[in-house]
Amino acid sequence: MDLVAGRECGECSACCVVLNVDTPEFQKLPGKPCAHLCAQGCAIHETRFPVCRAYHCGWRYLAGLPDDWRPDKSGVLVDFQSDDLPPHYPKRPGIRLTVFGPPENALKPGFLNYVARLVAADVPVILAVPGPPAFFPAGALLNDALTVTASVKHVGRARLVFDQSVVRGEERLASAELSLACVGAKSYRPVAVPEAIRKKLEGLR
Ligand code: SF4
Ligand code: SF4
Repeated sequence: MDLVAGRECGECSACCVVLNVDTPEFQKLPGKPCAHLCAQGCAIHETRFPVCRAYHCGWRYLAGLPDDWRPDKSGVLVDFQSDDLPPHYPKRPGIRLTVFGPPENALKPGFLNYVARLVAADVPVILAVPGPPAFFPAGALLNDALTVTASVKHVGRARLVFDQSVVRGEERLASAELSLACVGAKSYRPVAVPEAIRKKLEGLR
C-alpha cells in the first residue's frame, strides 16, 4: 500500500501517545506519551527506532479519508488490523478506529458515514476506546452489532439519491442522504444515468 502523496504528519504525534510498542529495542505502554516525545515532536527523530520509522497510521495511507481526519485534529486514530478477526468477515485488513479524543467525535456524521460504508462493504471494523494510561484500549467489532440499510429515494436524469441508515436492533443510530452524480468519464460533465441502471433502481423504489 502506498502513502497518500503530499500528506504529512505535520504537528501530529498521536501514535507516539496512543499506541503500545513492544520491540526488542523499544517498548512503550499504550496511552502514555513516549519518553522521547517533546513539545516539538520526537526528540530523537533522526535516530528514532525502526518500528517508528516504519509506522504510518491509516490516515497516511487512505486517500478517501479527508485531510481534517489527521489524528490530532479528529481525535480518531485509524489503523489496520489483520489478527484476531472473526472468519465470517474474511476481508483483510480490518479497520481499527481508536477514538482517543472527545467521544462525541464518534457521533459526527463524517465518522458514522465512514463506519457505515466499511460495514456495508463487510470490512471488519473495530471501535476501540482507550482505557486509563498504560492500559490497553477496549475494542468491539461493529459489524455484528450494526446493520446498514440503503434505499433508493430519487432517480433523476443524472442524479441518484439514496437514504442510508445505521441500525442497532430497533434503534436507528444515524441516517444520511447520499447523492450520486453521473458524469462523463472524460468530460466530467453530467450525463444521463444509463437506462439499465435507471430501470433497476426504479424497480427497487
Ligand atoms: S498518528 Fe498518523 S499522522 Fe499522526 S504522527 Fe502518527 S502516523 Fe503521523
Ligand atoms: S521514539 Fe519518537 S517516533 Fe518513536 S514513539 Fe517515541 S516520540 Fe514517537
